[in-house]
Amino acid sequence: MRTVHAYAAPSATEPLVATTIERRDVGERDVLIAIRYAGICHSDIHTVRGDWGDIAYPQVVGHEIVGEVLEVGSAVTKHSVGDRVGVGCMVNSCRECENCRAGMENYCLKGNTGTYAAVDRDGTITQGGYSTHIVVDEDFVLRVPESIPYDAAAPLLCAGITTYSPLAHWQAGPGKKVAVVGMGGLGHMAVKIAAALGAEVTVLSQTTAKEADSLAFGAARHLATKDPSVLRGLRNSFDLIINTVSAPLDLDAYLRLLRLDGTMVNVGAPPEALPLHVFTLFGNRRTFAGSSIGSITETQEMLDFCAAHDIAPAVEVISADRINEAYERVLSSDVRYRFVIDTATLVPAG
Ligand SMILES: [Zn+2]
Ligand SMILES: [Zn+2]
Repeated sequence: MRTVHAYAAPSATEPLVATTIERRDVGERDVLIAIRYAGICHSDIHTVRGDWGDIAYPQVVGHEIVGEVLEVGSAVTKHSVGDRVGVGCMVNSCRECENCRAGMENYCLKGNTGTYAAVDRDGTITQGGYSTHIVVDEDFVLRVPESIPYDAAAPLLCAGITTYSPLAHWQAGPGKKVAVVGMGGLGHMAVKIAAALGAEVTVLSQTTAKEADSLAFGAARHLATKDPSVLRGLRNSFDLIINTVSAPLDLDAYLRLLRLDGTMVNVGAPPEALPLHVFTLFGNRRTFAGSSIGSITETQEMLDFCAAHDIAPAVEVISADRINEAYERVLSSDVRYRFVIDTATLVPAG
């Protein structure tokens, strides 16, 4: 065991605090990573506050992790000491079910092992990336291309893959019209990736405040949905809608924007059930879908794609003592577009 510095939530209602946690010994197939940066995802906040169910405390969150390999187990073949690597939302899966065997461990039928707040194979609760080190099975460690700076690479491990996977699966590309609903951490990556794939991208945001950013990220246009006539004017327009909003929204109004055989994919995760009229789906043979992160193979493909197309998240690097303040700013959508923690600041001075 190794004691490492971390920032943890002591309970659902208290601020996160500096602490230490134990990491397991490096097993045969494990990789010990010195974490350089960890992104702050909205899911981190939902998890520590118990919004998605009760969890055990203290809990360290963070599933947008990048750093370098410090040590590898004797049977490790995929990674070497000194490699630039990343870890995303999962650290293991059953490896035996139909979906795992098909290479889609993100859809493991027994549930993939989350990077934090999940029961690990040794029975302990997984602890995430707001820490200086992590030990992960080599199969769940990604290679981070040299051309992507460490701090900007971090959000690719959740926000990047969560938007890349549905864009690739539903074939966003030349000749396709894609709408991105919401311009936050996920939304801004959806815009950059969809544009790089060659699709014509429209951002649907509540206001015009982020219009200049949308256009700079590759969108053809940015429309403010506060005015209800905007959505009415866009009916039957899009092949694909990526909804990144995790608050309830009028599904019928957005589904009507799909043209023949169009699909609306939810990657935002509102906790409540949302009403929907089946008649809206009849028109244009529309599909309403969901998508959950991406497989390890697809995550590597996304990292290589981002390097090849020179795209990276827009980040604001913060020190660990600003994590609680950052949470409040994420909740009020006051971030452009992802906070990333410099994990060197987790080590107490002196
Ligand atoms: Zn996330
Ligand atoms: Zn499985």
